[in-house]
Amino acid sequence: MTAGLKREFRRLLLEAVSRDNILPLTSVCNLRCVFCSHRRLPAGVDMHRFPPLPLKELAELIPFLDRHSRIVIGESATRLCEGEPFTHPDILALLGLLRRHFPCTPLQITTNGTLLGEKVVTALQRLQGETELGEPLLEMVISLNSSTAEVRRAVLGDDEPRRALDGLELCRRRGLPFHGSVVAVPHLGGWDDLEKTLLLLDTQGARTIRLFLPGYTRATPVKERGHNSLWEDVYLLRQRMSARLRCPLLLEPPLKKDLVARVEGVIEETPAAAAGLQAGDIITAVDGKNVLSAVAAFQRIKEASRPLLTVRRPAGPPARDPARPETAEYCIQLEKQKGALPGLVMERDLTKESIDLVYGAIARHKARLPLLLTSRAAAPLWQAAREQGLIPSCTCISIVPNRFFGGTICTAGLLTVSDLYRHLTSVLQEREADLLLLPGAPFDRRGLDLCGVSYRELSRAFPGAIMEILS
Ligand code: SF4
Repeated sequence: MTAGLKREFRRLLLEAVSRDNILPLTSVCNLRCVFCSHRRLPAGVDMHRFPPLPLKELAELIPFLDRHSRIVIGESATRLCEGEPFTHPDILALLGLLRRHFPCTPLQITTNGTLLGEKVVTALQRLQGETELGEPLLEMVISLNSSTAEVRRAVLGDDEPRRALDGLELCRRRGLPFHGSVVAVPHLGGWDDLEKTLLLLDTQGARTIRLFLPGYTRATPVKERGHNSLWEDVYLLRQRMSARLRCPLLLEPPLKKDLVARVEGVIEETPAAAAGLQAGDIITAVDGKNVLSAVAAFQRIKEASRPLLTVRRPAGPPARDPARPETAEYCIQLEKQKGALPGLVMERDLTKESIDLVYGAIARHKARLPLLLTSRAAAPLWQAAREQGLIPSCTCISIVPNRFFGGTICTAGLLTVSDLYRHLTSVLQEREADLLLLPGAPFDRRGLDLCGVSYRELSRAFPGAIMEILS
């Protein structure tokens, strides 16, 4: 590594730790999943792969973590590719070090589950406990992806397919709390395997399961992409399986189309479960104040002590059909402390802060023709915000296609400066704008996108335009 690259790598490490509370360990992984996002990046993406970081270097990063937020291990951050954390030779020593530094901070470890043997699970048990708010001090996210030996071999490149299943079983027996995650690839592994995998995670005690839609980029070979209606088929499977599972099943990305605070599921043995909340319930107010969005409702419930929820429950048994007529409105009090998680799950939409940012920028610049650039996934949410009068009606919402990543990619985090440049060039030929509002998700702290290009290139390309980054 050159000195410049080392500096940049160090900066990204510090950003992951101090901004996202993610501690990167290694890009090494012991599987070779066909669908792994690290393998299908178009040329030009400036992602860093790195060997296991020395324990000494990791120890130096620990003081930059925030003890008041959950510390995350095993997730990619900014432009750092994270692999399987339990391949790190010093992971158990590191976890011990973290627990000594942060005895009361929850840890979340994302793993493919293949290395959850006797020794590792016993060490993880020692990190268990509860925060003063009654939440687990350690939670695992087990990315199982498949439960069939042949599919694990062929699609995940897992030469010892029993290991992950045994690891899951061991976690259940030892009472280690975990969430499940599954990338839906029925076109590669079959629908039967997908259903069995969701059922297995549920019966082994997953608190929630995230089902990832099978996204692909323009760099993905055609034979790995699946048919055009795959997302709709996975969506329907999710609806069917939700009725069969004990735990909440959530789609990722959620592709939510409205700002309704709809309960998607309830985690067992939590305040929401004790209060009788159900999937399909719609929360309209918290402590008598109307809610702006699902995320805003969740934040308010979390921050409150014994919040009183006004809830509309659709007629009939719990269901997720938003078109079903609502019949009853009633109040539910959640017996929870201030700051404790309520145990209900909702799909992500817009935060109050992001709505306030748009509103504030338009007011500050007295803009009459503001242009809000957004991803395809977030566009319906902003349209709903405009219809509800949460942002000014003069706001033009303009969808920026993810041309650089291509394929089915439709989220703001994977937009690039080149996407924004191409889009602005064509849109500004057709309409006037006195304020350009750009999404903040594509950029790191220095304003660089995933290709390492600065958003300042846009100011240079459109010199007269007033721009604001929404972050
Ligand atoms: S387990 Fe995760 S990081 Fe490893 S190859 Fe599979 S998707 Fe990629």
